[in-house]
Amino acid sequence: MRRIQRAYENRFRALAETLGARRPEKALAWFRRRAKAKAAGSRGPEWRGWEEAWREAQARANRSPRRAGRFQERPPLRPEETRFRCDAGLGGLARWLRAGGYPAEWSPEMDDEELVRRAMAEEAVLATTDSLLMERRLVRDGWVCALWLPPALSPAQQLARTLSELGLPLLPPRCMRCGGRLVRRSKQELADRIPPRTFRWLEEFFVCEGCGGLFWKGTHWQRIERALAEAASLRDQRAAPPLRPPESEE
Ligand SMILES: [Zn+2]
Repeated sequence: MRRIQRAYENRFRALAETLGARRPEKALAWFRRRAKAKAAGSRGPEWRGWEEAWREAQARANRSPRRAGRFQERPPLRPEETRFRCDAGLGGLARWLRAGGYPAEWSPEMDDEELVRRAMAEEAVLATTDSLLMERRLVRDGWVCALWLPPALSPAQQLARTLSELGLPLLPPRCMRCGGRLVRRSKQELADRIPPRTFRWLEEFFVCEGCGGLFWKGTHWQRIERALAEAASLRDQRAAPPLRPPESEE
């Protein structure tokens, strides 16, 4: 077993060196803990724990946009698996990311260290307007995929920038309030919750799996869809004209 462990540790050292990790021994200690925890959690042989931890380390290294191009096999972010954690200054972006189909957490009172730690644990992309946060060790060394956004941009422009930087498409919309999936339900089932006029005019109704909120493709939804389409079309244009986000429903 020692030989297998040593082999994985050597691979990891080489990876950390390629990434220019400032404190390789600390990174290695993290890798060891990760592998042991994975081995303890699975019923298979111990080497599986090391293999899993190694794959995870590689995936993290490859995911960091700062490392783009440094790894030939760098896989792009998989849209269905991508989630975000937004810093205190990006509550508006979190709502727009959800409308664009991505789960996004926003915890305005969380300090930087906790924010980075959570993003790493959740394998979430950390979106921040704080350039100092980009200098934190775990971000700098590529363990957390982080994206810096200029605070002067509107949330819709920040969304456009995010989609473009990470090469992500728009997905079916999620609830802007909580990020829950929207599930289509029959209108009869929801009859007592739908305003009578809306009930007469529309057929498609959706309920949020997270907060139970009710949605329909009325004018509010259409405004958001138009703004999203515009954001998607602005993805590759750096000098984006200001987009007006639609007013909130609340
Ligand atoms: Zn919701």
